[in-house]
Amino acid sequence: MARNFQTPGIILKNNRFGEIHKGVVFLSPEQGLVDAVAYGAFSPKGKLRSVTNPLCTGILFLYRDPVKDTRKITDMDCREFFEGIRASVAKFFTASVWLETVLRTFGGDARETYDLLLRCLRLLDGGTEEEAPRLLALFLWRHLEGSGTAPDLRDCGRCGRTRKDRDVFHYLRGNPGFLCSECAHSSGALESSVPLSPGALAFLGHASSRELETAARVGLDAGSLEGLKRAMLWLAEDLAGRPLASIRAGEGIL
Ligand SMILES: [Zn+2]
Repeated sequence: MARNFQTPGIILKNNRFGEIHKGVVFLSPEQGLVDAVAYGAFSPKGKLRSVTNPLCTGILFLYRDPVKDTRKITDMDCREFFEGIRASVAKFFTASVWLETVLRTFGGDARETYDLLLRCLRLLDGGTEEEAPRLLALFLWRHLEGSGTAPDLRDCGRCGRTRKDRDVFHYLRGNPGFLCSECAHSSGALESSVPLSPGALAFLGHASSRELETAARVGLDAGSLEGLKRAMLWLAEDLAGRPLASIRAGEGIL
């Protein structure tokens, strides 16, 4: 790899080190998750100060130290700030869950993950706050599919029985697959389970089979959405193998 290189990227996370330096993790469609340093980016006059914050998306210019194998951000051409997301608490917490989920669970195809995240951020940015919970579920479901861990929508994950159109499925925390009502009840762990209505399951079916922007327009009643959202957030944490701070922080808002 050349010492100086550039790549598109979405900034996922910052951390401070020293007085004024900023550690930056970003997602590149070419290189996956990249750790880099923006020297001086926390100083009041640092030119990289605002363009290297989480959500900033554009072209990053970097220098790679071949001896230490570290990366330094020399410049960033930030093309999308996502002001519509930053201006809304509900949208901001939704995006925060996406960024942390990618950070903690990335392992698949970088280009596919980058494309999914960027398109979902654009939908969230330009959409209404009411759409945020559906977009939250849509992103997480597509991400689970990309990681090969999305539960089957047709057959019970325990007994294998095929679901009929009006049947409810249940998601039991920590269990692979969605379960039919009989299997869910016999497991006796209903406090850590959520029902997935036929509407919620149809929503996921559309999320799988349709173009993202089309799937984002599929509506869902409030009760179904509540169960779906809870299941998706639990699945994201299951995939991460740990609680996600952004979900805790967004409790009551997400
Ligand atoms: Zn079953």
